[in-house]
Amino acid sequence: QDTKAKASDQGKLEIGLDDAHMGSVVTRFPPEPSGYLHIGHAKAALLNQYFAQQYKGKLIIRFDDTNPSKEKVEFEESIKEDLALIGIKGDVVTHTSDYFDKIYDLALQIIKSGDAYVDDTDQATMRDQRMNGIASKNRDLPIEENLRRFEEMKNATEFGMTCCLRAKISVDNPNKAMRDPVIYRVNVTPHHYTGDKYKVYPTYDFACPIVDSIEGVTHALRTNEYRDRNPQYYWMLDALKLRKPIIWDFSRINFVYTLLSKRKLQWFVDQGLVTGWDDPRFPTVRGIRRRGMTIEALKQYIIMQGASQNILTLEWDKLWSLNKKVIDPIAPRHTAIAKEDVVKCKINGAPVKAVVEDRPKHKKNPELGSKKTTLSDHIILEQEDAASFELNEEVTLMDWGNAFVRDIKKDESGKVTSVELDLHLEGDFKKTKKKVTWLSYGDELVDVILLDFDYLLTKKKLEEGDEITDFITPVTEFKDAAYADANVKDLKHGDIMQFERKGYYCVDAVATDSSPAKFIHVPDGKATSMASK
Ligand code: ATP
Ligand code: MG
Ligand code: MG
Repeated sequence: QDTKAKASDQGKLEIGLDDAHMGSVVTRFPPEPSGYLHIGHAKAALLNQYFAQQYKGKLIIRFDDTNPSKEKVEFEESIKEDLALIGIKGDVVTHTSDYFDKIYDLALQIIKSGDAYVDDTDQATMRDQRMNGIASKNRDLPIEENLRRFEEMKNATEFGMTCCLRAKISVDNPNKAMRDPVIYRVNVTPHHYTGDKYKVYPTYDFACPIVDSIEGVTHALRTNEYRDRNPQYYWMLDALKLRKPIIWDFSRINFVYTLLSKRKLQWFVDQGLVTGWDDPRFPTVRGIRRRGMTIEALKQYIIMQGASQNILTLEWDKLWSLNKKVIDPIAPRHTAIAKEDVVKCKINGAPVKAVVEDRPKHKKNPELGSKKTTLSDHIILEQEDAASFELNEEVTLMDWGNAFVRDIKKDESGKVTSVELDLHLEGDFKKTKKKVTWLSYGDELVDVILLDFDYLLTKKKLEEGDEITDFITPVTEFKDAAYADANVKDLKHGDIMQFERKGYYCVDAVATDSSPAKFIHVPDGKATSMASK
């Protein structure tokens, strides 16, 4: 409760929007439906919603669907679900494609006003000319010719297919974003909504300012790596005589060992390096949720980052340790012992016939209720604990009581094969050095699989020119079979809990007749790597 209150105090931005009036602010989150929502998008969405709410205004969710080659309905659906999951609720959902007719008319208008021309220069030459500030041979074509050519683009004729429409801004402006950017392209791939109605599509540079203006957006939030594109955004609106929103930029977030680009994430999916967009190794909203990230921690973290203008490469640890503060008070405690580490142990003085007693699921949070703990004269311990025991040492069996170590048997390699203890319930657990986890063995033990993951990349930050394939971590999944206490049978998919002395886990799959329950380790921000290995 305490940590919650503190964190939400921090959950206020020190900043506001310029020229923002209560009740009249309109912001928008414009995802392209070309992949699943990742943590960077979550930042953009949460910030847009934050300002809309702070000024009692409106939030538009707009699918920026201007490139049919990359986009799918499937992605739009998943983005909608993930937005709902992180508590983003737009006042309306729109699509850039809703405005294709309008945008097309504006393309005609900008040609007629002499502010755009149709260029059939090949791509390589065009890139070269733009780099070197050389004018295209088509730059001064008469308006009539541009209209004729644009009609060919519209019909995707053989000639039309070689053309694009370019805004006539500048040939050699030091800001390369101003060097006659492409504003319309031919694409004959059917669009997921408009089918083959159009064969020409506006680029983001043209569509975004137009739709922002038409939809009444007052504050257009953009990541600051687009700052060079701001003059171009305003130029479009001036040329079209449309109302200008205010651009407010914020910094992009990046994380160490992580790629945040839908195109690159798609590559991992296609290569089979992950199991899908919801893979727990992925920085997608689904991936980090599966890994045990709570929405509450995610929101707190993003709002904390919100004001920074630096493009930072963030460590995952901070986010996970914030998450730990959220889950620790509410995660029930259970016990698991890895199968390969099991040491059998006989306990003298323990009930020969097992007794079942109630124990709190969380010592500091009685609201979580109690669990059943079986006490018996045959238990299992962890190899590491047993190996540390000394003869006649007094140790504590957690949630039970003290015991004296009376016998330790080892094999030739020094591995402990069995231990014998004398129960000593009068002993003071405050006086022992070792508190060990244990489980009574018998029918009460449940098979579980413990999963942990490492970063997909071996390099903190990929540089320009780095080949992804040179930096792929060879093994990123770690699997351990373990025994757990029988209470874990009551856990549900998505539940977050703690295996004492192992860490926090999120239930990824409950047990079925043919497979044990799967638990994914939740990083707690302590290790320097996401994985505990
Ligand atoms: P990607 O390269 O992953 O496809 P994008 O920016 O092209 O990212 P969009 O769907 O166009 O993806 O992005 C929607 C919104 O999310 C945009 O406003 C964009 O600026 C923002 N956004 C995307 N990535 C990040 C990030 N890493 N940090 C902050 N905001 C981001
Ligand atoms: Mg984009
Ligand atoms: Mg991108």
